[in-house]
Amino acid sequence: MTGPRCRRKHRPSGRQGQSGARASKHPTPETGWTARRGSVAAGGGTEGQDLPSQFKLRNPAAPGDFVQLPVPIIQQLYHWDCGLACSRMVLRYLGQLDDSEFESALRELRLTKSIWTIDLAYLMRHFGVRHRFCTQTLGVDKGYKNQSFYRKHFDTEETRVNQLFAQAKACKVLVEKCTVSVQDIQAHLAQGHVAIVLVNSGVLHCDLCSSPVKYCCFAPSGHRCFCRTPDYQGHFIVLRGYNRATGCIFYNNPAYADRMCSTSLSNFEEARTSYGTDEDILFVYLDS
Ligand SMILES: [Zn+2]
Repeated sequence: MTGPRCRRKHRPSGRQGQSGARASKHPTPETGWTARRGSVAAGGGTEGQDLPSQFKLRNPAAPGDFVQLPVPIIQQLYHWDCGLACSRMVLRYLGQLDDSEFESALRELRLTKSIWTIDLAYLMRHFGVRHRFCTQTLGVDKGYKNQSFYRKHFDTEETRVNQLFAQAKACKVLVEKCTVSVQDIQAHLAQGHVAIVLVNSGVLHCDLCSSPVKYCCFAPSGHRCFCRTPDYQGHFIVLRGYNRATGCIFYNNPAYADRMCSTSLSNFEEARTSYGTDEDILFVYLDS
């Protein structure tokens, strides 16, 4: 235990989760990602040969340059359950989502409205899904105690979460303190695997969603705000691919019901390494 901290998973900001006009830049199911179902550009070489037929390379000339996995989109129902929505997306992608089993798993694991990344790892384990949870802090980081996002239930949660970390090995939940690179993530996706990542939603900006222009209380009326969002807003997303040529990464944001999102690798890196995330990433394997 080195000053653990688990990131609390998220409490997505409501503004992001609501309505939001459908962005015209988002591909429609007809023209975009859905149409590409089954055309995942996998890792190439021998790696691709282990994939189910629907993941075989369509363009063998560019192995691993373009990956877009057919991860279904499931929207979160409340402000606090983005991690559960992400877990459902992943389980459905693996062909293992059964709604009643999922509900009973939540009861069995005693998951409440405070969902941490370690809870998602236990969920994967519960369903026998091969996983690997990488984090910078094996437990709860006490430094988060005064962050507004974490403050509300910090003390009770700290005990519960630290216990989950302590029992992980015995429960066959794979947790490692390690640093993950973008290349590691791309190699993982190229093999048809997916990942749930904890990000600061105030930092993550989708290039496809039309974001409302924000005006600042300190700027003259009508002037755009360039302030950085100061507070951490934990949010889970599901990674599903990338385009090496354009340097972007594709993900499902459970705040939305109708779209796949995309952002630059640099923005993604900033959002997932932002203070408060502990760089939590839960790798999930297709061959589970
Ligand atoms: Zn988007």
